[in-house]
Amino acid sequence: MPRLDARHVFQAVNALDGLLAAGAAGHAVAPVPALAAIAASQAALTAACLCPRCRFLGPVITRVATTKPEVALTFDDGPDEAMTPRILALLAEHDARASFFCIGRRARQAPQLVRAAAGAGHSIENHSWDHSPRFALFGSRRLAHEIDETQDLLADLSGQAPSCFRAPVGFRNPWLAPLLAERALRYAAWSHRAFDTLDPAPARIARRLSRALMPGAVILLHDGRNARDAAGRPVLETVLPTLLRGLQARGLRVVDLPTLLAGHDRALPSQDVPERDAAPAPRAFR
Ligand SMILES: [Zn+2]
Repeated sequence: MPRLDARHVFQAVNALDGLLAAGAAGHAVAPVPALAAIAASQAALTAACLCPRCRFLGPVITRVATTKPEVALTFDDGPDEAMTPRILALLAEHDARASFFCIGRRARQAPQLVRAAAGAGHSIENHSWDHSPRFALFGSRRLAHEIDETQDLLADLSGQAPSCFRAPVGFRNPWLAPLLAERALRYAAWSHRAFDTLDPAPARIARRLSRALMPGAVILLHDGRNARDAAGRPVLETVLPTLLRGLQARGLRVVDLPTLLAGHDRALPSQDVPERDAAPAPRAFR
C-alpha cells in the first residue's frame, strides 16, 4: 500500500475544493460524497496531529534500532528549581547521561540550571518557548518563533545548539516538519513514557517503566510538572532511582538522545513499541 502523508491529504482537500467550486459554478457534481471525503480527510489530518508518534507528519524518533546496550532518558518541561537539581544529582550518582528538553521561557528564568545540566555532560534540547497547549494550531511563522527563540537561548546557555525538538504534549501540525528540516533539527517522540505528570502512584509508574529496559528505548520523564505521591513528594524521587538501578542491572548504559542516535544501526528494522497502559484520566494542562 502506498505511503500517505500530510501533503496527500492537502492535495485531496484541494481537489475536492475544486469539485465544490465547479458545483458552485453550476456544473454537475455530487456534493454529498465530496463533503464526506473532505470531512474524512480533515479527520485523518486531525488524528495525525494528535498522534505523538505517527510518521504521517514527518520523521519521528521513537525506539532507536541499535545493537549497543544503550537507553536514552529524556526529561521534559524544565528546568525546574526544585526537581532539576535532584535529578542531576541522581544521574551523577549512577554515572548516567540524559537529555533535557527545556521550555525556553523556563530556561530564561533559571539559566543556571541549564548551564549546570550542560556542564555535567547532559544534552540540552528544544521543547518550544512557551509550551502552549495551542502549539499544534500555530501557523508557520509562530512555530518558527517558538523554535528559534528557544534554540538561540539554549545554544547561548549550554554552548551547543540543540539537535532535537519535541512539541508540547507531542501534538504537531503539517508546518512543523519543514521548519525542523530547514534547521537540521530532528523530531523526537519516545518509545516509553512514564505518565509522571499525571499518575501519583510511584509503584504503578515503575511497573510501566519496567517495560522500557531494552536497548534503544527512548524514555519520556519530566523534571517540570511532576505529579506528587501520597506523601506530597514528586513521584520521580522514588521512581528514578528504581529505574536507574533496573537499567544498570540489565547492563544498559544510560545516555543522552544524540548519543543513542549516533549508535543507530540502519541495517536493523524499525523498532516501534506499541504504547500500552494508558495514563489515568488527565487533569487540565497547567
Ligand atoms: Zn512538555
